[in-house]
Amino acid sequence: MSILRDHLLNIRSEIERILPAQPCVLCGSMSRNGLWCAACDATLPYLNMPHCPVCALPTPDGEVCGHCLAHPPLFTRTTAVFGYAFPLDKLIQAMKYGEQLALAHAFAGKLAQCVAQNALPDYVLPMPLHPAKLRERGFNQSLLLAAKIAREHHLKLLPDVCQRVRDTPPQSALPWKERKSNMRNAFRCDMDLTGKRVALVDDVLTTGASLNALAKAVQKRGACEISTWVVARTLPHRGR
Ligand SMILES: [Zn+2]
Ligand SMILES: [Zn+2]
Repeated sequence: MSILRDHLLNIRSEIERILPAQPCVLCGSMSRNGLWCAACDATLPYLNMPHCPVCALPTPDGEVCGHCLAHPPLFTRTTAVFGYAFPLDKLIQAMKYGEQLALAHAFAGKLAQCVAQNALPDYVLPMPLHPAKLRERGFNQSLLLAAKIAREHHLKLLPDVCQRVRDTPPQSALPWKERKSNMRNAFRCDMDLTGKRVALVDDVLTTGASLNALAKAVQKRGACEISTWVVARTLPHRGR
């Protein structure tokens, strides 16, 4: 056993030796830590405080939050790696608009580590982009995330059974109150999911309106248990 362990450690140090040092995307210093250096990693807003199991909003003792109690979403569990705060927000924006696909890869690796091993779904589905937006951007960051996580956990990826049927204004452009109605019937699911457990993957969960609308589409097709996996969770403003 210890021979095997030594062997694995050797392989690991060999990989570290071969991997080129690269400039950290946040501070520019050279490191072999991946896209960002260990010092910057320590400053990232990991969501390691107690939070609502349903929507990942921080709560004092990790209990279900008031909003989820009053208006339970159609998904029952959320896994989030980070709070959506500086400097993580800049990295997410770079991933979406700066075409930094390596960032999607790094985030997916982090999210794959956080996903509960004992509650893996039958299918992994990315948040779809409307075809017009896909043409404009050239890629769907949620699909990149979902594909890597599915691969790491040997899960079945359903890349395109859900469609965004309306090209809605971006949620970020709308007041929170209007986000729910903006998303009404925005999605369609083309596959029978009767009795299946599914995980929906998106980059950021803010009000949950988009994910809940997607959850509605898969629930209509019979999905029995719906989780969401997101890189980051928007943290509440003071007084909310
Ligand atoms: Zn750095
Ligand atoms: Zn909640």
